Amino acid sequence: MTARNLLLLPGDGIGPEAMAEVRKIIAYMNAELGAGFTTDEGLVGGSAYDAHGAAISESDMEKALAADAVLFGAVGGPKWDDVPYEVRPEAGLLRLRKDLQLFANLRPAICYPALANASSLKPELVEGLDILIVRELTGGVYFGEPKEIIDLGNGQKRGIDTQVYDTYEIERIAGVAFELARTRNNRVCSMEKRNVMKSGVLWNQVVTETHKRSYSDVKLEHMLADAGGMQLVRAPKQFDVIVTDNLFGDMLSDVAAMLTGSLGMLPSASLGAPDVKGRRKALYEPVHGSAPDIAGKGIANPIAMIASFAMCLRYSFNMIAEADNLEKAIAEVLDSGVRTGDIMAEGCRQVGTVE
Ligand code: ATP
Ligand code: MG
Repeated sequence: MTARNLLLLPGDGIGPEAMAEVRKIIAYMNAELGAGFTTDEGLVGGSAYDAHGAAISESDMEKALAADAVLFGAVGGPKWDDVPYEVRPEAGLLRLRKDLQLFANLRPAICYPALANASSLKPELVEGLDILIVRELTGGVYFGEPKEIIDLGNGQKRGIDTQVYDTYEIERIAGVAFELARTRNNRVCSMEKRNVMKSGVLWNQVVTETHKRSYSDVKLEHMLADAGGMQLVRAPKQFDVIVTDNLFGDMLSDVAAMLTGSLGMLPSASLGAPDVKGRRKALYEPVHGSAPDIAGKGIANPIAMIASFAMCLRYSFNMIAEADNLEKAIAEVLDSGVRTGDIMAEGCRQVGTVE
């Protein structure tokens, strides 16, 4: 059987608590299903800074590069507010993204039936919602040069960020979105602002060409990103896979998150380019942060971390049935009325100790 190597980076705050629940699932899958996972552990964020004076050590970076997939908890907290910028906890995650070249960020927004009432929208608009936002993560205006503040004199300054996209960057993210669509409902909506941005014109052209060349079996639609944001709130169930750039993806995925209720529910995956054998580097993490306000109390919702592991089974190991089962188990637990405090509703049974 092929070895399946995982690197666990629990991090800070509620990261280790959430990761502890995933460790139980891995142990169960090894013992009962012969899944053959091997795990290694490392430090990231504040805990790595305390141990090594860096947000991630070189030896843990090497482990991350060698692993089939990285499971990441969360980093940061008030304890490290004053550490130097280069070694702040978030630098560990940014280094991982950069060195593993994780250009594709996948953020599903799934509304579990039992939680339709927790949405910011009417329950009927989100019940059964299951969309996937594919955000380009390593290019665009967050990284483009020049990026600076220039002093113009006369008390005036100019802040500059530059949106840059090259053909290959758009091609590869479009490819990821089309491939994923084939495993779902065969529909992709691409969002940009081609009416006011040159990078948007190129985005639109390259997505269209990539589609024509290799994915004409998938239904492709284009939408201006502002109209897309509006549609996401007006009628979210019209979407299946949305592909968009770094900036729009950042905003639209936060909007989509609020459609589903709590931060404690949302998983994510960040994928790199396939190597010659078709294997991708990948990192899976909950969307929520380290939640220092509730850390150590045993009340954190572990579902986002568990659902991130389900994405890992699906995308890194092609264990589709196991991923489906794990997601079904999450839905069943919610249906049975068990809740952590963040998704508590009347008539439900709360787990975790509360002070
Ligand atoms: P970051 O900057 O790392 O994203 P943040 O401060 O923006 O962190 P979180 O750390 O995610 O956000 O916390 C925001 C709020 O949501 C907090 O009040 C926290 O307690 C709550 N929260 C976040 N994740 C969970 C969870 N898994 N279970 C319960 N509550 C959570
Ligand atoms: Mg945040």
